[in-house]
Amino acid sequence: MNDINNMNDGDQQVHSAAGNDCGHGGATASGDALPEDYRLLDEYNDVHMHVFGTPLRVLDHGQGVHVWDVDGNEYLDFLAGIAVNSIGYAHPKWIEAVAAQAAQVAHVSNYFATRPQIHLAQKLIALAGAPEGSHVYFGNSGAEANEAALKMAKLYGAQRCAELGTDKPYRIIALTHGFHGRTMGALSATWKPAIREPFEPLVPNIEFVEANDIDAMKAAFDATGKGPITAVIMELIQGEAGVLPLDAQYIRDVRALCDEHRALMIVDEVQTGIGRTGSWFAFQREDLGGVTPNIVTFAKGVAGGFPMGGMISFGEGLSSLFSPGTHGSTFAGNPLAAAAALATIGVIEDEGLVQRAEVRGEQLRTDLRATDNPLFAQVRGRGLLNAIVLKRPCAHAAVDWALEHGLIINACAPDVIRLAPPLIVSEQDVNEAVAILAMLPEDLPED
Ligand code: PLP
Repeated sequence: MNDINNMNDGDQQVHSAAGNDCGHGGATASGDALPEDYRLLDEYNDVHMHVFGTPLRVLDHGQGVHVWDVDGNEYLDFLAGIAVNSIGYAHPKWIEAVAAQAAQVAHVSNYFATRPQIHLAQKLIALAGAPEGSHVYFGNSGAEANEAALKMAKLYGAQRCAELGTDKPYRIIALTHGFHGRTMGALSATWKPAIREPFEPLVPNIEFVEANDIDAMKAAFDATGKGPITAVIMELIQGEAGVLPLDAQYIRDVRALCDEHRALMIVDEVQTGIGRTGSWFAFQREDLGGVTPNIVTFAKGVAGGFPMGGMISFGEGLSSLFSPGTHGSTFAGNPLAAAAALATIGVIEDEGLVQRAEVRGEQLRTDLRATDNPLFAQVRGRGLLNAIVLKRPCAHAAVDWALEHGLIINACAPDVIRLAPPLIVSEQDVNEAVAILAMLPEDLPED
């Protein structure tokens, strides 16, 4: 057994990379004594920086909600590349669109535009219900999306300070437990001290306020002797923190405070967006009663596995803060990524996957609760972004156990398992996953 340490989003995880010897993962397809997975992971470790630790398996191909490793073992994927593969693996429409675009033109510089990029921006503005005058900036990842949003917020902050005639620095508020990415700006707004503090000093004047505590937010806005708060960045469901939802009333109250103080509300929908939580964007859910952000960021599921991220600025005015040269990226709006995103969104629309996320998510939570597994303390989530809170901090052992029984999930905290399957997941897929999770042993080793 090669026991190894796996670092993912700051959580240390110990697992066995070679546990193919029980349950669903049974005999290797090739019958080799030494699985290829084993050899390749050694080679991986020889040549990769260890920011992710040793991967759990070397994967070879996927189809729908299933994926196979290089030894032919099959897994039901309830992680979807961490909420990325929204239409599953190898969807024929996605393949066709990406192949056609690759044959036509794969990349142009930002001195030129392409049809897919323009059509995608139009589509995203429409799906977000963003008003006339709204604009899109495309990047390549979630961190980049938030980086762009924070740069826009800084320009806005400088403008507000000039309007208010203050020389005190404007402040940007982020929430405790929030995760916005690992580039310097996004990291400055990411709460987890273990991943942020080694890189300090980061961007100044970003302050953390207790999530879900409106009095703390009011106190931050009302603080005397400090510069104005000009932006608040938040996830509506804190995904990396363990799928922690913010209260609807809290979200509405933050919006009201932002309105009162003319601060921007930046909603990070990198994980929650593009249908995952049962609406195109989480801010559109009914119990929020029409809360509208000033900036929304997206990435992960938007292009069904092709790297893409970006932001939408809502309404007239805001986007004019960005002028030529203020921001950019070589790959921004890349036509292959845009074609992949258009195909992904097309499939989500054609197959009714936003509604399906709601229905299958409800099934998943109800059926998990009904298992009465004594290890489960709580099942929570919305749509197909869900978590099981465990009674003991054994989430990494649970991930290994599930993998050995043919189910991919992940641990986003020592006592929290995350379930974020593709939006195409069927009733039977959910039944299968629940049947495996129902058997999770109570006495798994702790982290
Ligand atoms: N924002 C949120 C809410 C996320 O969940 C993540 C990634 O998990 C990011 C930003 C960073 O995205 P990326 O890893 O694509 O940079």
